[in-house]
Amino acid sequence: MTTVLHHPLVDHRMSYMRDIATKPKLFRELVSEVTTFLAYEALRGLTTAEVPIETPVARTTGRRVSEDIVIVPILRAGMGMLDAMLRVLPYAKVGVLGMQRNEETAEPVPYYAKVPPAKGAEVAIVIDPMFATGGSAVDAVSQLKSLGYRKITFLNLVSAPEGVENFEKHHPDVPVYTAALDERLNEHFYIVPGLGDAGDRIFGTL
Ligand code: URA
Repeated sequence: MTTVLHHPLVDHRMSYMRDIATKPKLFRELVSEVTTFLAYEALRGLTTAEVPIETPVARTTGRRVSEDIVIVPILRAGMGMLDAMLRVLPYAKVGVLGMQRNEETAEPVPYYAKVPPAKGAEVAIVIDPMFATGGSAVDAVSQLKSLGYRKITFLNLVSAPEGVENFEKHHPDVPVYTAALDERLNEHFYIVPGLGDAGDRIFGTL
């Protein structure tokens, strides 16, 4: 299932991210901020365990996240979301999947994978800003499933209906959280209206 964040604080930031005049420094900050909101919404279901604590006033109990978490950015643009994820989940591990897009077919071409094998109970969170054809996300989740991951969530910033449909066909069990659901893909498989090439805008390589 795909959840679209509808929130004024998200929409406000997305409007600056989409703006062609926004420079990489601000673009990166906005990516981080929106990623934090995505994580807040997507991770409501994390398991917590009760722990005894002592406040300056009294003994009580608190709750702490008790799940092992692996964050999996898809290179290269997924790296732009990593800082924010590690800020909210500082104890998480990081696995990396490198995927290049064949610009003619838009098919993902995997070229690197460094993800710890799953013991079975971990939560894997895939991050990639643009959910266009869905090919990279489908492939990333398939790789994680074959490594033994069972609890997987995919976070992205901008999605296209074509990507959502493709992903749900392959991985109906994996929840997706996005900050915006756009109109369509163009003939170059870019999201319309989108924000252009997210990697180029994050890394200043336009
Ligand atoms: N990748 C991007 O960076 N932008 C798109 O619109 C589609 C894929």
